[in-house]
Amino acid sequence: MPLQVDCPCCGRRTEFSPENRWRPFCSQRCRQIDLGAWASDQYVIAGNPQEKPLDDGEPVEPRKPER
Ligand SMILES: [Zn+2]
Repeated sequence: MPLQVDCPCCGRRTEFSPENRWRPFCSQRCRQIDLGAWASDQYVIAGNPQEKPLDDGEPVEPRKPER
């Protein structure tokens, strides 16, 4: 009896077997949905500009005299 797992996307029971190329997902659709969520997460992280800390009277770098 093949091992059965719950699809991480929809929670449906699916076979975790070499025949199931979408394992541990139940279908290609669920796999793509999950990967899509991942990709959008990555996109948000990559597209989010790093906020530079505002100068709050706490200088991190030593001041250099202007030439
Ligand atoms: Zn599914």
